[in-house]
Amino acid sequence: MTKQLKTYTLHNYKSIPQIANLSDEMIEAIEVVGRVLPFKTNNYVIDELIDWTQIDDDPIFTLTFPRKGMLEKKHYNAVKKLLDQGADQATLNKKVHEIRMELNPNPAGQEHNVPEMNNIKLKGVQHKYSETVLFFPSQGQTCHAYCSFCFRWPQFSGMSNLKFAMKETSLLAQYLLRNNKVTDVLFTGGDPMTMSTQVLASYINVLLRSEFRNIHTIRIGTKALSYWPYRFTKDKDSKELLKLFEQIIKAGKNLAIQAHFNHPAELKTFEVQHAIKQIRATGAQIRTQSPLLKNINDKPEIWAEMWRKQVDLGCIPYYMFVARDTGSKRYFELPLDKCWDIFRKAYRQVSGLCRTVRGPSMSCEPGKIQVLGVQEVKGEKVYVLRFLQGRNAKWVDIPFFAKYDPEATWFDQLEPAFGEEKFFFEKGRKKPKANEILFE
Ligand SMILES: *Cc1c(COP(=O)(O)O)cnc(C)c1O
Ligand code: SF4
Repeated sequence: MTKQLKTYTLHNYKSIPQIANLSDEMIEAIEVVGRVLPFKTNNYVIDELIDWTQIDDDPIFTLTFPRKGMLEKKHYNAVKKLLDQGADQATLNKKVHEIRMELNPNPAGQEHNVPEMNNIKLKGVQHKYSETVLFFPSQGQTCHAYCSFCFRWPQFSGMSNLKFAMKETSLLAQYLLRNNKVTDVLFTGGDPMTMSTQVLASYINVLLRSEFRNIHTIRIGTKALSYWPYRFTKDKDSKELLKLFEQIIKAGKNLAIQAHFNHPAELKTFEVQHAIKQIRATGAQIRTQSPLLKNINDKPEIWAEMWRKQVDLGCIPYYMFVARDTGSKRYFELPLDKCWDIFRKAYRQVSGLCRTVRGPSMSCEPGKIQVLGVQEVKGEKVYVLRFLQGRNAKWVDIPFFAKYDPEATWFDQLEPAFGEEKFFFEKGRKKPKANEILFE
């Protein structure tokens, strides 16, 4: 039996039966916030994941539905006023665009990661760390539902000049042949698992040819296990999808599914557990990651439960991220020392099998920076940090220090400790120009 995906957006969410129980305030918030931030949910999320009896603080509702606090008051009021006045579409669109541009739609200098070849910008490719290339297949630039915290939101909101997408695999293939240090290709989006098996196979099969023997691992970043596990069990081409996974492994590649789970509630249904089993039976591994989000998963117990459950199901905890500095960040962000505190209190109560996870980690312009902790060194309170990944691989794993700041929520708010003017990696470093890929 196939299972039909029904998606809901601002245009049709009122036909969701459970919506009738929401307060007028919550409906207003959906109408207002949903104009600015991407909003899309579906029948699996609504019927299987959200607990409609506790809707005021249900984490999965918060994950896919707009809530009032997700926009700053002044932005909220501006949109509400236009809606109340019955403003025309053009006026509304202009305001919405203005607000979106204030929400840092393209964080962490992602434009620095787009490589060039023969003077052609490879728009669907990002290459930041020498061993791994990110590929954004143009047909995977959507998701089965949208996360309210998502930093990829410009890709979904019609701000298409910011859309990293590429139509042809042939350019990717040429690029990989010229860059033989690359071992991993990471398919990302959006969610590549929104593509049909046939389309996904057309992208992947190229990489299974013998000239790509340098590519050891194919990774697929996906939220489908959480938002639409039927992708692996009950879609009309699920069987073919699992076969494709088997073929990748038969061709001698690792297949790593990078699954996004934000809360243990996403791991509890029969359907997700069944999907995980099916994927693992192909020989693929599932690694898990999530940002740390106020109002969704900001308690150590939640993380400990999530990691334990993942390990029970045969998944490998991989990254805990700090929420990105974009979109509705104010609603989700936590000070860095709070992030560390949650991480360590979760980490210390789980077995070593769960401690494959690394974090809390910030994906910034120079690299992935982990908060190792807060310490006092000769009377100065400092953050101890290190690169988990760096634009320059030589930076990786060297501890360094920033002045303690109880309010900082992102790396760019931190200053070097001990009166230094620059962090060690900034000394003598030119920031890369747009399109410049530097593996120094
Ligand atoms: C995180 C990330 C990767 C993959 O890093 P791993 O630590 O190998 O998982 C690759 N490219 C970019 C731009 C990233 O942010
Ligand atoms: S699944 Fe990933 S890309 Fe899609 S909305 Fe959520 S965070 Fe964004």
